[in-house]
Amino acid sequence: MGLQCGAVAPLRFACQPNCTRCCEVKGYVYLTEDDLVRAAKFVNMTPAAFETKYVIRYRHLLRFRKPRAGQCHFLQNGGCSIHPVKPAQCRLYPFWPELVENSIAWIGEEHECPGIGKGDLVQIGTACEIASEMKRAYPSMYPQPGSPK
Ligand code: SF4
Ligand code: SF4
Repeated sequence: MGLQCGAVAPLRFACQPNCTRCCEVKGYVYLTEDDLVRAAKFVNMTPAAFETKYVIRYRHLLRFRKPRAGQCHFLQNGGCSIHPVKPAQCRLYPFWPELVENSIAWIGEEHECPGIGKGDLVQIGTACEIASEMKRAYPSMYPQPGSPK
C-alpha cells in the first residue's frame, strides 16, 4: 500500500564519488531487524553477537553504537565496509520523507550532501516510493494516521 507523500517538485541527485559526508554527520544510524540480520551475516557473525557488539536496542528502534572517534564503526578506509548491506536509512538517503516532502529542507540539505542538486532529475513518484520505504522501515519514526502509538 502506498503511503502519503507530499513531494512537490522533481528532485536532482547524484551521489558523489569518494564522498562520505553523510556517514560523518553527527547523529545516530538506525537499522531495521532485517538490516541487523543481513549485516551480521555479511561480517560472519551471528545476529546475537553482532547486536551485542554493535547495536543498542530500544523498545521500537535499533541503532548502531557510536565508536569513540567518529560516527559509525563501519566507516573504514574512506568507505562503508558493509556497503552491500548498509541500513535502510543509509541506503535511502537523501530521499527521507522530511527532505522529499519539504522543498526548503531539500535545498538546505545541499550543505550536508554535495550530491543534491546534481545529476539527473528524479521523478516525484520515484522519490515518493523511496521515502515510503523509509517510512515502512522505521514506523516508529514516521507514525501513520491510525497507527498504534
Ligand atoms: S553526502 Fe550525499 S553525495 Fe556524499 S556520499 Fe552521502 S549521499 Fe553521496
Ligand atoms: S553503515 Fe555505512 S553507510 Fe551507514 S553510516 Fe555507517 S559507514 Fe555510512
